[in-house]
Amino acid sequence: MDSALGHFSKVFLYFGVPVAVECDAVVGYLKERGLEARRRGLDFLVASVGSLRLGFWCPREDFPGFDDVEDLKKVLGVDALDVLVIVSYRPYVLVDYINSLLERAHRWYGVKLDVKLLGISSVELETGLEEALGRALVEKPQKLGPGVETEYRCPQCGKDVLRLYRQERFFSKKYRGRVVESIYACPACGFKARRMDLLD
Ligand SMILES: [Zn+2]
Repeated sequence: MDSALGHFSKVFLYFGVPVAVECDAVVGYLKERGLEARRRGLDFLVASVGSLRLGFWCPREDFPGFDDVEDLKKVLGVDALDVLVIVSYRPYVLVDYINSLLERAHRWYGVKLDVKLLGISSVELETGLEEALGRALVEKPQKLGPGVETEYRCPQCGKDVLRLYRQERFFSKKYRGRVVESIYACPACGFKARRMDLLD
């Protein structure tokens, strides 16, 4: 009963086609942050930041029919993604399931897909999107662009200075104020960091 109600509350009819409301919210949020999302289906969209490829999946079913990584490649194109963000009422059930498919593919067939999975709960979509986007951006900072040298020595190896790969000012729904988000990484050792400075 609960899951039936949950299902109806997250799907509405648009020209007779069921549309995941979460996907519209993701498109809206990315636009707010200056990123363009491209739809790849009713419940899936992709966005790029530099050469970092992000996928956002808002499944309408509580559980997908995926049995192996080949399905994941076909339906969600995971082999072309750096980060897959799953938006769902129980995202971590899906994150765990897909992670286990990825692990099995690696262990049994030697297929290594370098995709990071993140989950957002539909009930805290706004703050969840902000957090997930931040975590996605810091996943592979070098893909965001060439970056600029900073004066901060790497706290991990001390051999090099950190580079700043992205810096953006926006209104944070989590901190309820303006913030500056900065993405740093060390070219020498791979240390990476995301810093949030509150302006208000
Ligand atoms: Zn370092």
